[in-house]
Amino acid sequence: MDLSYILNHLGEEREKYHGAVVPPITQSSIFAFPSVADMRTGFSDEFAEHMYTRGNNPTVAILRKKVAALEGAEDCLAFGSGAAAIAAAVFASVRSGDHVVCVARPYSWTRSLLRDLLPRFGVATTFVDGTDTGNFERALESATRLIVLESPNSMTYEQQDLAAVAALARERGIRTLCDNSYATPLNQSPLADGIDLVVHSATKYLNGHSDVVAGMLCGSRAILRDVFKGPYMTFGAILSPHDAWLLLRGMRTLAVRMERIAATTAKVLAFAEGHPKIRQVYHPQASSNPQLGLSERQLRGSSGLLTIELDAEDVAGVERFCDALQRFLMTVSWGGYESLAFPVCAVFPPNAPLHSASPVSLDLVRLSVGLEEADVLIADLDQALSRI
Ligand SMILES: *Cc1c(COP(=O)(O)O)cnc(C)c1O
Repeated sequence: MDLSYILNHLGEEREKYHGAVVPPITQSSIFAFPSVADMRTGFSDEFAEHMYTRGNNPTVAILRKKVAALEGAEDCLAFGSGAAAIAAAVFASVRSGDHVVCVARPYSWTRSLLRDLLPRFGVATTFVDGTDTGNFERALESATRLIVLESPNSMTYEQQDLAAVAALARERGIRTLCDNSYATPLNQSPLADGIDLVVHSATKYLNGHSDVVAGMLCGSRAILRDVFKGPYMTFGAILSPHDAWLLLRGMRTLAVRMERIAATTAKVLAFAEGHPKIRQVYHPQASSNPQLGLSERQLRGSSGLLTIELDAEDVAGVERFCDALQRFLMTVSWGGYESLAFPVCAVFPPNAPLHSASPVSLDLVRLSVGLEEADVLIADLDQALSRI
């Protein structure tokens, strides 16, 4: 993959904008036609033509080309959020009476879509432990049309053998969708493993600056044309030209950010794995990960999201740790330039027992490693751990 060409040049038609090195933001909702004949052409294929920004926009088009190239996809659609991209992919793939198989612990709003919303439209979902490919096979029904994967997921990092799941789905004509937000296109290529659709929360590493919410859906042009005519145009959950432009800027540094984050994360992992107040470290490359072999085969590099299980007596101890953090900002989301901490206990009422929320326990704190110096982050964790 010619990464620097994709990030710096692909899709940018500088001759059309006076040689400007940075593309302009085409802040226009509509595109005019010189003749009725041309307008008729526009209506005949809105997927390909510029007519209305809910369908196509030149700034968004540059972004689509770059992300498609990164994923090795024929095409890509941009959405106003990762959740919108996932919903569009799912709605375009199922109809009433169909059945979906999904990994046990997907992103919370993916679970909500499949578990709470889709049954209203006659679509049922079975959730399975995806670390064993056989579980997918056992969950299949004659009505199964879609398998939803997230490898690794974004809290405990379970992975699926993508090539194996893709092969069993293909044999049966079942579509597969994989959330690749965690790995980024740099570290994992699900389409090359035979997966049909790849989705990204571009809010995370692709943008990397915590200033845009966006989603991308990559796949074959035939499927994406279908998504375009269906949920993309009808739900209208599009990315604005300005947000697309910010994403283009964020992506210029994707490769260097991921390199730096991987190097820092390796040091944070080593520190966390040796600390007496941390019982367990969850990360694809953690030495205790039972799927370490799959990480080595399937991932080309490391991401900066990891989860630590604190050796705390109670939730108050977890709270003392989190409240003491100085450089890790406490909030949701991940993948930005700044390091973050997300305590699972914040989702539950105060004074809940530590292990009330099985299978996720309240002594888990998810850390997103940003671009700070490793020793600064480690010193911050160390002083906060002494408060437990
Ligand atoms: C954040 C996230 C999403 C949702 O993306 P938004 O851009 O927040 O809508 C989907 N999948 C994963 C793994 C995520 O972390």
